[in-house]
Amino acid sequence: MHPLAQLDHQFVWHPFTQMQDWLAEEPIVIVHGKGVELQDASGKVYLDANASIWTNLHGHQHPVLDRAIRRQLKRVAHVSALGLANEPASLLASELVRCVNPEIPEPIHGNPRLDKVFYSDDGSTALEVALKLAYEFTRRTHGPTVEPRFLSMDGAYHGDTIGAVSLGHIDLFHAAYKGLLFPTDKVMAPACYRCPYNRAQPQRADARSYRRCQWECVDTVDQTLEQARQQGRPYSAFLYEPAVQGAAGIVPQPSGWLRRVAERVRAHGALLIADEVFTGFGRTHPFDQWNSLFASHTEGVQPDLMALAKGLTGGYMPLAATLCRSSIFDAFLGTYDSFKTFFHGHSYTGNPLGCAVASASLSLLEAPGAEKRRGHIAKALATELATLWDCPWVGDIRQIGLIAGVELVRDWTQRTPFALSERVGIRVCQAMAKRGVLTRPVGNVIVFVPPYVTTKRQIQTMVGALKDALDEVLG
Ligand code: PMP
Repeated sequence: MHPLAQLDHQFVWHPFTQMQDWLAEEPIVIVHGKGVELQDASGKVYLDANASIWTNLHGHQHPVLDRAIRRQLKRVAHVSALGLANEPASLLASELVRCVNPEIPEPIHGNPRLDKVFYSDDGSTALEVALKLAYEFTRRTHGPTVEPRFLSMDGAYHGDTIGAVSLGHIDLFHAAYKGLLFPTDKVMAPACYRCPYNRAQPQRADARSYRRCQWECVDTVDQTLEQARQQGRPYSAFLYEPAVQGAAGIVPQPSGWLRRVAERVRAHGALLIADEVFTGFGRTHPFDQWNSLFASHTEGVQPDLMALAKGLTGGYMPLAATLCRSSIFDAFLGTYDSFKTFFHGHSYTGNPLGCAVASASLSLLEAPGAEKRRGHIAKALATELATLWDCPWVGDIRQIGLIAGVELVRDWTQRTPFALSERVGIRVCQAMAKRGVLTRPVGNVIVFVPPYVTTKRQIQTMVGALKDALDEVLG
């Protein structure tokens, strides 16, 4: 075993990993990355088909991003945001406010501008900030005796801190910590492939395209909101992942779902909180229509709070931001001794290196031709994924821009799942790794999240590796 792998086995505890399985095999130790490629300690080269857990946008060792960090390193690596401003944090905040407020065609009623940026470190903390702001804003505007209620989506995943877990609804991850959590409610999330209201027989196409339903999922949201109103305890906020629920298994929303739901939530006076941690920064680029860098906007929705992380720094540094409308910010203004301050912050809040590289990443995202290029990659991915329908183990292929999930099933004609104990998703990804393609499954859904510099040839290799892996594992 490579000495670095030995050290890992001896000392490191990996996230979301059954360490008994981990310790039974030699881990891949990554020592180098360039573009879409990662190289391990033995010199084997892989394609990063998972964008390093959905963070990497422009590839590894991108010269523009590397330069931005080096330039900032020559000035200062970190200063506190408690009591001090810093150049990259100020510049990035102004750029973020510009790019999260595009001219949205056909906006829904009541869309605000997002004017203020609160920095934190990762997706979970960005959601904690949004949650605390929404909680306190509600109490300040409706009175301190109000107990703010939160609504989120079935299958939701918003991170692993206690607030984020309370807002999540994946029992496998969250049930164990029930005693630590505060109560929140969930509404049905649209998941057309396995939706009980979808009366269509399985076909060899994305379930959204042939679904037969009458938006019953939206009716259930209506009923939940109405019930809360009648109880005299309306919801303070609705938290959603726009376009696609990632950790739920790359579960996409049919076009029009978010718009309908957001209109209803707003009519009930609740805040909209968008978790764009995964979907932000062009990931959900629909290749043939008007596009914003943020998935909510494609549905005409500007939330009241928006959480950003992952791709914010192009996948280079841990940095997150929660953006909010100015009336939320204003509710925290007052004299020193009125104690209206937002008492929240982290040691590395507004880290200059992170902010500098995030600004550089934004410049790449907005460079001439970049949007078109993302569209081309998304199209190439669609073309390759379509060839998988020939495979009997493929139940559903769901693509949302530069995100795709391929759900593996025992019998596609019945949508019969593989038992989780068979570890089919893990075994298939291991077989893909042998073929030089790295990704990580969500259950039995194989995930493709290619960086934005992936070539057509590399997309073919990624999807080809899945085909070969399916042959090897399932025959
Ligand atoms: N929200 C969503 C939608 C996510 O996918 C994730 C992470 N996968 C998070 C929040 C949490 O982000 P982090 O892991 O950076 O805390």
